[in-house]
Amino acid sequence: MDIEKKIKGTIRKYNLINKKEKIIVALSGGKDSGVTAYILHKLGYDIEGIHINLGMGAYSRACMNVVEGLCKELGIGLHVYYAEKETKRKMIKIIRQNPSLSSCTICGVFKKWILNKKSRELKADKIVTGHHLDDELQTFFMNILKGAPKLSANFGPILKFKDKKFVVKVKPLFFIEEKEIEEYARKNKIDVVEETCPYRKETYRIEVRKFFKEVSLKQKKNMLKNFLRLSERINKTRNTKINYCEICGEPSRNKICKKCELIKI
Ligand code: AMP
Ligand code: ZN
Repeated sequence: MDIEKKIKGTIRKYNLINKKEKIIVALSGGKDSGVTAYILHKLGYDIEGIHINLGMGAYSRACMNVVEGLCKELGIGLHVYYAEKETKRKMIKIIRQNPSLSSCTICGVFKKWILNKKSRELKADKIVTGHHLDDELQTFFMNILKGAPKLSANFGPILKFKDKKFVVKVKPLFFIEEKEIEEYARKNKIDVVEETCPYRKETYRIEVRKFFKEVSLKQKKNMLKNFLRLSERINKTRNTKINYCEICGEPSRNKICKKCELIKI
């Protein structure tokens, strides 16, 4: 089955999005989110893009150019936000101030905070991301190895929280292998940023990725099913109470959200 049909099937099975909703696709400049936007547009969804410029010099400029080009080509609107302006801090400085944390973890916290806040302000019904099968398996596995299975409590193609300040996040590529996305991007000449972020420091993920390289697609799909079942069990043990951050007012599990914790120092 081709990738477009698989995505259609996932959208239908999990009721991810519908054509009446306001859908915002989080575009990084990479192949995964680029392919996601391209296919959703082809399937007739009325989408807009959102891009966060993380202020990582030439790399961020290249990402933004690619995203702007794609949105122009598809004829869709694009909302661009600058991490530095939104958080009043330079990302690079926060990364330097937190050497014990991986730069990708720090960036992830900021991206999530901005994406949720801005999509809500834009009155989006759903945020779509380009997370795919390999990403998801790696993250679940890493959380288990770190002894933090609760971080995988909301594993699955749709992420809903019982709180009006959270915008629902969906992952139409959840069951698609990275290889297939790469091929699709190449065949359809979707422009993507090839280089990786100069601040990327994900040694742990690189090791986990190596492990999954040896695993067949059939085995990976089985693991995905097992992880989905496991996540349901983890969910039942988790406190789902959401607070609002005492500093920024955004939803958080703790009194102060992760983004505010990071910039407090
Ligand atoms: P990553 O965490 O970098 O693997 O990205 C996962 C997904 O998050 C991507 O497929 C995008 O949908 C979204 N994303 C990552 N970086 C950005 C960004 N700078 N702006 C908007 N969305 C992003
Ligand atoms: Zn906060």
